[in-house]
Amino acid sequence: MNNTNEMTVRFSGNAQNESFARMVIAAFITGTNPTLEEVSDVKTAVSEAVTNSIIHGYRKKSGQVTVYAKVTGRKIYIEIIDFGDGISDVKKAMEPMFTTGPEEERSGMGFSFMEAFMDKIEVESKVGEGTTVKMWKEIGTAGRQFE
Ligand code: ATP
Ligand code: MG
Repeated sequence: MNNTNEMTVRFSGNAQNESFARMVIAAFITGTNPTLEEVSDVKTAVSEAVTNSIIHGYRKKSGQVTVYAKVTGRKIYIEIIDFGDGISDVKKAMEPMFTTGPEEERSGMGFSFMEAFMDKIEVESKVGEGTTVKMWKEIGTAGRQFE
């Protein structure tokens, strides 16, 4: 039996779609039998990435955000893709508390949360072309690292 499942959703880069993205990913990963905490971790990581695409990638412009997800057994792989402004220095952008604003209450912790809540994240970005955030998480491994 093929135990791989994939989905792609693309939506307008509006703030109202942040909660839509959270619900979509939560529904999609249900088959991995996650704990409530694992669901919450994945939702948070996805919404941080989607929010970044909307706020930093597109700023006041309009554009589309794509969420691609693949589940293989209990392994989850997710990409969040935008075609916005891109990031000039990815390494620096991923440092805790690094933010380019805008002036509101941004704390520069989005990438840190994604790294904390997922097993691994990778960011590919090109100025003027856009950003892809890739994230991996295996369900059911919490606490196992000390066994
Ligand atoms: P917070 O997430 O805590 O509200 P933040 O969004 O500034 O604040 P991060 O999510 O860690 O913090 O992102 C750090 C910086 O990386 C952003 O300030 C922005 O400069 C850049 N960045 C992140 N995602 C994107 C993106 N999709 N497009 C363009 N720039 C981005
Ligand atoms: Mg952010």
